[in-house]
Amino acid sequence: MKKAVYPGSFDPITQGHVDIIERLTHIFSDITVLVAQSSQKSAEFTAIERKVLIEKSLGPLQGVRVDIYEGLTIDYMAKNQAQVIVRGLRAVSDFEYEMTMASMNKKLAPDIETMLVFARPEYYYISSRGVKEVARNGGDLAGLVPAPVIDAVLSKFRNPLTNRKA
Ligand code: ADP
Repeated sequence: MKKAVYPGSFDPITQGHVDIIERLTHIFSDITVLVAQSSQKSAEFTAIERKVLIEKSLGPLQGVRVDIYEGLTIDYMAKNQAQVIVRGLRAVSDFEYEMTMASMNKKLAPDIETMLVFARPEYYYISSRGVKEVARNGGDLAGLVPAPVIDAVLSKFRNPLTNRKA
């Protein structure tokens, strides 16, 4: 069975991400959720905080692990003998970015395939950025993110001292 890697910022993980991961467990027996640690892209949560939130949100899911990587996803995949990159697709607006990235990865690593999974209709509007905007303005996060993320996001926005960038 091929190994799949689901890379992303997950800043923080949302119900849309959780749904994609659960659906992947029906297709792949070895899945790595890969938290991208980027020096270029600033994040609300540190990579370790994001990893812990993913683990808490998923609970014990068979065949799923969470890892952090700074660098190209294809390099991580080569090191870990993984063959399939999975990305989620929401609106048409996601398409151009995903296609460009898939094409770049195809050029750099011809043996690696990118698989796009359509967002479930009830989750297609959820984004990490939207969730943070709702939280910043005191909105209700129920149904948008898993319970452990609600607590973490609320405490982050309630206490500016813990509002770190990574
Ligand atoms: P990135 O910054 O790499 O796009 P994200 O954490 O925003 O990282 O998203 C990771 C992947 O999950 C992307 O492929 C994105 O399109 C997908 N995704 C994000 N939100 C959803 C959602 N609500 N439903 C399905 N897929 C999603």
